[in-house]
Amino acid sequence: MAETPFELAGKRIFVAGHRGMVGAALVRRLAPENVKLLTVARGEIDLRDQGAVFRWFDESRPQGVFVAAAKVGGIAANNTLRAEFIYDNIAIAANVIHAAHLYGAEKLMFLGSSCIYPRLASQPLRENSMLSGPLEPTNEPYAIAKIAGIKMVEAYRAQYGADFINVMPTNLYGPGDNYHPEYSHVVAALIRRFHEAKASGVGKVVVWGTGTPRREFLYVDDLADACIHLMKTYSSEELVNIGTGQDITIAEFARLVAAVVGYTGEISYDVSRPDGTPRKLLDVSRLAKLGWGATTPLEEGIKLAYQSFLGEAKRTSE
Ligand code: GDP
Repeated sequence: MAETPFELAGKRIFVAGHRGMVGAALVRRLAPENVKLLTVARGEIDLRDQGAVFRWFDESRPQGVFVAAAKVGGIAANNTLRAEFIYDNIAIAANVIHAAHLYGAEKLMFLGSSCIYPRLASQPLRENSMLSGPLEPTNEPYAIAKIAGIKMVEAYRAQYGADFINVMPTNLYGPGDNYHPEYSHVVAALIRRFHEAKASGVGKVVVWGTGTPRREFLYVDDLADACIHLMKTYSSEELVNIGTGQDITIAEFARLVAAVVGYTGEISYDVSRPDGTPRKLLDVSRLAKLGWGATTPLEEGIKLAYQSFLGEAKRTSE
């Protein structure tokens, strides 16, 4: 089991969550791999519905599975929709991972998140710091659901010898992001806010929190490339962090987004909004040893994300 590379070409590969930012990037990255791509529309199969998921796996028999389906959002969404974040994400992970086992998938990749690490774990965050301390409260329901999925993958490897693996992406951004004014992540939120301020000539933009937290940002197409690399070559119970290995304060990041968008007004801070975890930087040394490194510099990635925001804004106004 463990050391065999997994050939993607010619296989039935299921991307769960293909309409999300991550799933869509995986679909783009799989295009040259000559797979038989399988997806399900949300209206057709609700991944929280165990019976529907099992029936679909029985009929479709995917050989490779990417679990990129999840209910996701920024700090406000995580902190407000706490019940939905824990229930939806536990149900999706439980149904898809168990179905992959029942219906004979040869390989599965579960995508976790850097928020599974303890709030005050030493930085950069190493894979073995999971469950070594209390979680950040604003996203604890999401993190607990992701930890449940990670532990399922470990258990199915241990008990059944399943070739299931866990990867932990850092904060992601790029095409297909969610630009909801309240529930988005910081990258999409600031692209939209600076753009709207520039367009309407408003001279002040509000950024949440103190501006002092540090975050690492990875362009989603880089993430997809890392996932395909690991899906093909990696098989072990150890988690693998996926990030750039570099972080930036929210204040520096806000200035960068303002510059890319061309907003020249004032930036102010709303300290009534939560900062969340003070720092979230992944240790990517395991990933580097496995032969992968991120290639899209932050400024270039933000330019690409802004272009796709403009394209998406145009499409929705047509
Ligand atoms: P987190 O990494 O789970 O905290 O995810 P977010 O992307 O939601 O937030 C990252 C950091 O950006 C936090 O410190 C937020 O307080 C800060 N932030 C600043 N302005 C915004 C905003 O408009 N939206 C969001 N979501 N976060 C913001």
